[in-house]
Amino acid sequence: MRSFACIISMIAATVLIAGCKTNRISGNSVMKNTTAVIAHRGAFKKNNFPENSIASLREAIRLGCAGSEFDVRMTADDSMVINHDPAYNKLEIEKSTYAQLLAFRLSNGEKIPTLREYLQAGKTNNPGTILVVEVKPSAMGKERAQFITDAVVALVEKMGLRKNVVYISFDYEMVKRIHAIDPKAHTQYLNGDKSPLELKNDGITGLDYHYSVFDKNPGWITMAHKEGIVLNAWTVNDAVNMDKLINAGFAYITTNEPEMLFERVKQLKP
Ligand code: MG
Repeated sequence: MRSFACIISMIAATVLIAGCKTNRISGNSVMKNTTAVIAHRGAFKKNNFPENSIASLREAIRLGCAGSEFDVRMTADDSMVINHDPAYNKLEIEKSTYAQLLAFRLSNGEKIPTLREYLQAGKTNNPGTILVVEVKPSAMGKERAQFITDAVVALVEKMGLRKNVVYISFDYEMVKRIHAIDPKAHTQYLNGDKSPLELKNDGITGLDYHYSVFDKNPGWITMAHKEGIVLNAWTVNDAVNMDKLINAGFAYITTNEPEMLFERVKQLKP
């Protein structure tokens, strides 16, 4: 009997651990007891990988991060590439062709990843790291922004990753567009100037604001919990702010220091 009880408790523990590792992209309530680690531009820092490289994405997956974030931009000839800044080696991405960008390599020898290559890497040997796709605003006007948004969502869908992504953007029109195309998409707005209730009314499922926004609007945390808006914050790289947000019940924290955040979550878990 004793060994039977032991087996049962082992199964229960396994289920519990598996449950904790499961990446839930909606529903603040189920995530209240655990804050999920999102690697900002991949887990690049500790191993000195280039930000937004496939190496940094693979490292985030290897670490077991709940999510790995990256930035999508479109070239003049409609290629979607992964890069944070509007320029890559002084070439303005929106005004350059993909072939022009290929003249330069990342510091680890990778070429600038296309969105397709990045999503493919995120699909391979990935037990559960969500791909957090930041669609960068366009400097080429509203129509171009729409075109980019549609192309990103279409490719994610084509590659069968619809349920494995969270979309984020500073451009509210882009976030609303994603929701209009795919009402079940998980979307988080980045710019910090909308209340959780405003987001809910527009069908947006979460927010991902700079952590200082919550000092200016302390009521927004409670409001987000009440309205079921998923809470995320960027880019939190110190233990004091990590602890504050973990204790406030944030579902996600986005960080350049995923190893440190794992440690803080472990220290503070009930
Ligand atoms: Mg980003």
